[in-house]
Amino acid sequence: MISERAKKVKPSATLSIDTKAKEMKASGIDVISFAVGEPDYDTPDNIKAAAIKAINEGFTKYTPVGGIPELKNAIAGKLQKDNNLQYKPNEILVSVGAKHSLYNAAQALYSEGDEVIIPAPYWVSYPDQVLLNDATPVIVETSEEDLFVVSPEALSKAITKKTRAIVLNYPSNPTGFTYGKKALEAIAEIVVKNDIYVISDEIYEKLLYDGLKHVSIASIGPEIKKRTIVINGFSKTYAMTGWRVGYAAGDAAVIKAMENIQSQSTSNPTSISQKAAIEAINGPQDFIPVMLEEFDRRRKHMVTELNAIDGVSCKMPQGAFYAFANIKGYLGKRSANMVIKDSSDMALYLLEEAAIALVPGSAFGAEGYIRLSYATSMEKIQEGLARIKAALKILA
Ligand SMILES: *Cc1c(COP(=O)(O)O)cnc(C)c1O
Repeated sequence: MISERAKKVKPSATLSIDTKAKEMKASGIDVISFAVGEPDYDTPDNIKAAAIKAINEGFTKYTPVGGIPELKNAIAGKLQKDNNLQYKPNEILVSVGAKHSLYNAAQALYSEGDEVIIPAPYWVSYPDQVLLNDATPVIVETSEEDLFVVSPEALSKAITKKTRAIVLNYPSNPTGFTYGKKALEAIAEIVVKNDIYVISDEIYEKLLYDGLKHVSIASIGPEIKKRTIVINGFSKTYAMTGWRVGYAAGDAAVIKAMENIQSQSTSNPTSISQKAAIEAINGPQDFIPVMLEEFDRRRKHMVTELNAIDGVSCKMPQGAFYAFANIKGYLGKRSANMVIKDSSDMALYLLEEAAIALVPGSAFGAEGYIRLSYATSMEKIQEGLARIKAALKILA
């Protein structure tokens, strides 16, 4: 039968809602999905060409487990240039997506009885990855007034002798908010004082609006750098979700442990994708501001339209491609055949009544909110929000 460990985890909520929406679509229903967690852009041609070249040249065999030296060097150069971080190749591990790097880090760092602090709203996989490694997620609430940034007080209060790490994600999926340098400095101080680790998921670093600049917590000083595992990847910035390549950078001993684990599970990330990733880093970057400008237009439109709906409010996000809207005004209301008790009910109601797919806040540990991705066309955003508005209007 199924192991106790496997019984502890649930399938990724975001992926399962997307699957359900796709099934409805396949059956002929005109579903508009705001549930997707990937850019609606195609991978840039220069990156595709690098992969095709790799295939034609027969670069289709096993590579070193933790990534080819050329890619590790490109990543080291990127971390230096973008993040002011110096890492040697033995402090970098290339994995099968950032999610895989996160998982390797969880395997390498957590033991039974350890506690791992996760500020909510959180990305869906963090608590389950902790559970899969026999440790205990400790969820720390943040507030909408604080733009969902964890306060130093709340963090300090959550730390015990068993605390092993804190997981940070900025810019954040699902909220779209990020941590500025000041907030990171306050957290770094607590982390160093308590000698714990930070898992720093920075996968949306290039998707920041209004001229905001990303700062990595690892760049604050040598003491925090030693205790940080930086996680990043290619999926979001380069529209490469299907290629499955991401990476971790950190202390050599931790990276080595992660690599050993990877060597006994997946082995190397796909050889072809590694060549594509080198081109993503070293090739032209002009695709990014173009995509960002379009996301920015959609962001403003979606948030403006959300705020125009009675009983819905949404703060303007700073990054990523999600709007995290407050729907608390609708909880307790009823439709013809159901009471909307929570965000899950709301997601179900909107899917059935308006053929709109989105993710309930409860999936991210935050009740009373819904997450809408604007990685979809302006027309769909327009039409979808009109449908949501109409569906909410008939609730009493
Ligand atoms: C998409 C996403 C990831 C996973 O990225 P992959 O490289 O595709 O595995 C990790 N963290 C967050 C917060 C994400 O939204």
